[in-house]
Amino acid sequence: MGRMNMNDSGPVVLGLQRSFGFGDRLGLAGPGHVAVARANPGFAPVFAQQSIRELARTDREPEDVLHAARTAVEAGGWDRPWGADADHLKTPEDVRRTVAAGFTFFTFDPSEHVDNTADRMSESGLSAAVAKQADDGVYGEESVVDLYREQSYELDDRSVIRFDEESLLRAAVKYGRAVHHCAQLSHVLGDACSGRLYEIEVSVDETDTPTSPLEHLFFALELRRRGVVIASLAPRFVGDFEKGIDYKGDHADFERHLAEHIAIARTHGPYKISVHSGSDKFGIYPIIGRVCGDLLHVKTAGTSYLEALRVVLRVNPPLFAEIARYCVDRFETDRASYHISTSPEDIARLPAPADRGAEAAYLGSDAGRQLLHVTFGSVLTRGNTAQGRPFKEAILEALESHADLHKDVLTQHLGRHLEQLQAG
Ligand SMILES: [Zn+2]
Repeated sequence: MGRMNMNDSGPVVLGLQRSFGFGDRLGLAGPGHVAVARANPGFAPVFAQQSIRELARTDREPEDVLHAARTAVEAGGWDRPWGADADHLKTPEDVRRTVAAGFTFFTFDPSEHVDNTADRMSESGLSAAVAKQADDGVYGEESVVDLYREQSYELDDRSVIRFDEESLLRAAVKYGRAVHHCAQLSHVLGDACSGRLYEIEVSVDETDTPTSPLEHLFFALELRRRGVVIASLAPRFVGDFEKGIDYKGDHADFERHLAEHIAIARTHGPYKISVHSGSDKFGIYPIIGRVCGDLLHVKTAGTSYLEALRVVLRVNPPLFAEIARYCVDRFETDRASYHISTSPEDIARLPAPADRGAEAAYLGSDAGRQLLHVTFGSVLTRGNTAQGRPFKEAILEALESHADLHKDVLTQHLGRHLEQLQAG
């Protein structure tokens, strides 16, 4: 069907090599992203990456995201493989829409089918929930209890995971419907791609509690039993992966936990471990790079948007000040859908955005970064300057007229990401 040949500059599947996702909400970060990728050949780049939620928050279509990436690839003379990630797909409609646009990498987000109450259910509650799942056809003809109860699985690091009855039921109640949903999306994807190559990621990074090794193994075994081959899986890790700032939590705990996940991914895949909200986690990048080896994918997006605002701040301080004041007004409302620790009191302590130290305060502090991060949708779709000009238009103009600076700040900031990932 689709034209696919070696001369085409379009996205392809990347397979099991280290990869890095460069989300670009404004469509102008591509030249910087291509430059960073060129300087770091150890990572296969994903130049197009946007979630359905971000599309809505930026008033973009999947086609716009691919077009921007392809334009940067062609202009930058990039001639190696690159990927296109349709991120956080929840419905068959999301899948069909992004296949039609030409994406190659599809991230399924079954979070609406994860039952977070499983962690607190009584044993009889768990049994009843599993019986209901069976009635609903979640496991097909099989019994999940017969499949896994008292089964032990040895991983390649010699550790063993055993499904005792209670932990099996908890994992099944929590993730059974989510796996089933992923299998359904996978059928839709296979049909929609009809012969075109594609790869799948499954993300459960937005659940209430960290993904335990046993839960991860259950998910992997169930995907495989249903014939769903994945390129990567995004667990919810221990500690806090807040948007736009460094990791919060114990580094040794994180390393142990990550090592357990990667052992499952090696033994029962192999597939990559995918790190979502991967921007600015400098403190743990060396650990991530060392522990995951080649089985690593990292996603970033917000950090490139913040670098765009850095350009605005430097070239048009009054515009930046207007945007920042608007963000302060929006903060209480917009923070609701994010997991961040910055409080309105922290925001109130920021200096005025027209002050001399604005760059350090707004782009160098956790509070400033999270303020700008959570409000991007409002800024890009609703905010206007005092003259009534949409902020988005004014931002794009500033970036277009200072393309070299934009490229430089992106190259520097994302370059640090990739260097640290290779520093372990
Ligand atoms: Zn995610």
